[in-house]
Amino acid sequence: MKSVTQFYLDKTEEAVWHRGEDYVNKGRVRVEYYDDRKIKAVVSGKEAYKVTIRWVTNGLRKSCTCPYKRGICKHVVATALVWDELFGIARPSKDMVRFRTIQPPPISPRQITACYNDPLNADLDVIRIAVDYYALSPKAHARLPRCPRIETHEKVPLTFEEVKKALNEMEKWSRRREYHSYFCAGEMAAAFSEMLEIMEKRLPSSPSEVMIKVMAHCVDWFYREFEQRIDGSDGVWIFPVTRIGKIVARLLDIYPSHPAWQEFNQIVEKVGDWWGEPGLNAEEIARWRDQCL
Ligand SMILES: [Zn+2]
Repeated sequence: MKSVTQFYLDKTEEAVWHRGEDYVNKGRVRVEYYDDRKIKAVVSGKEAYKVTIRWVTNGLRKSCTCPYKRGICKHVVATALVWDELFGIARPSKDMVRFRTIQPPPISPRQITACYNDPLNADLDVIRIAVDYYALSPKAHARLPRCPRIETHEKVPLTFEEVKKALNEMEKWSRRREYHSYFCAGEMAAAFSEMLEIMEKRLPSSPSEVMIKVMAHCVDWFYREFEQRIDGSDGVWIFPVTRIGKIVARLLDIYPSHPAWQEFNQIVEKVGDWWGEPGLNAEEIARWRDQCL
């Protein structure tokens, strides 16, 4: 029989491999059936999982009843090791395991959850690449800049023109040939979020009229353009929305009775109607933000 472990070695993460070895060393694998074509086993960790591995024309086919879906699980590794042993095939050495196994994804599901639990403090780099590792079938897609071009110096007052230009730049990204509304959504949301963070930093240096006009435009742009350009099914819109909410709430604090609020509220209300949320206004957004955070 050909070595089963050699077949799986370069498809398995190193840590997973060692956990599989651990199960074998602790006698956690109970073989129910085996020959040189097929093995059926029950591997018991915290729970017992059924593993089947069999040779097919072009390699091995495996199944395991555990919930791990990222590739080869420790139960399959444990079963493969036992199957090889039954045919007198030696285990791969420690060095071989180290050099032949694959690297785990650079981000974990836990990191992604942490981002959604605290969107304002999320690591935007995690949002940018999450889809590459955790989508069912990731596709090649356009790589987008981290942020549209915008002045980052805090002391330079913000202008309406530069914000419009930056948002235009993001619209252009979405016309790239490789742009994909689902697979680029995280990068778009992250770039818009970065831009909003810069705007927030520059807020104290900018005239209130400009900030209010700019924010009204951003809210409008979010609904009319951003939402149309991304498939938001992963909820990545939460990252720019919370930042918009934060800036709007800050503006409300600084200028509670500014005459331009009327205008701002009208724009937000119009967007709200269009979006099917009548009565949406700046205070509503601020309240919503406070509830969500
Ligand atoms: Zn498993």
